[in-house]
Amino acid sequence: MENHHASEMNGVVAEYLNMCIESKHNDLCKKEKDSKDSADADRLCNIEKAYSTVLSELGEDVDREGLLRTPLRAAKAMQFLTKGYKETTQDILNDAIFDENHEEMVIVKDIDLFSLCEHHLVPFFGKAHIAYLPNKKVVGLSKLARIVEIYSRRLQVQERLTKQIASAISEALEPAGVAVVIEAVHMCMVMRGVQKMNASTVTSVMLGSFHDDPKTRKEFLALTMRK
Ligand SMILES: [Zn+2]
Repeated sequence: MENHHASEMNGVVAEYLNMCIESKHNDLCKKEKDSKDSADADRLCNIEKAYSTVLSELGEDVDREGLLRTPLRAAKAMQFLTKGYKETTQDILNDAIFDENHEEMVIVKDIDLFSLCEHHLVPFFGKAHIAYLPNKKVVGLSKLARIVEIYSRRLQVQERLTKQIASAISEALEPAGVAVVIEAVHMCMVMRGVQKMNASTVTSVMLGSFHDDPKTRKEFLALTMRK
């Protein structure tokens, strides 16, 4: 039995916050063209304009000081929060899978997760717990957190996110079984008063022996859901 905690995502949050503070240009997306390829810069410009329209239509004065850079910042933030579309699990797992005669359950719990609900474009966030039963192939543990990241940084629903993570691991490692549990709080529910504060939604996907063997499933759940 191996049991690892992965909470290396603080760096990611810092990166995002820096990015929000960093943008100092004013007409802004134009200057981005020097540094990025032009299709990307065009997209950024279009998103910036769209956000400007959204703010106006909400009754805001887009020329007031506090909002001058907001459309560009928001555009960059949205691109960052959806950059998982440009990444594949193959890219990151390429040289991270090893042959190993390890047959015990591998668990990584408490992987931080930040995503956007595709119905309201509002964040949901929480923890992912992942386990697999190796069948000759194992993967570097930090890569499991990267898989979570790739699928979280897209517009999502929690059920699909859970499935995509499980399928990605299943395809890459061909293990005897995979289990993924996600516990998340949805701001679209919390902020609209649909859900009590901090009430979390739990989804799970069990494949292979985690699906077929109640003992294996029970062992995983006992180890991950313990508070
Ligand atoms: Zn929502």
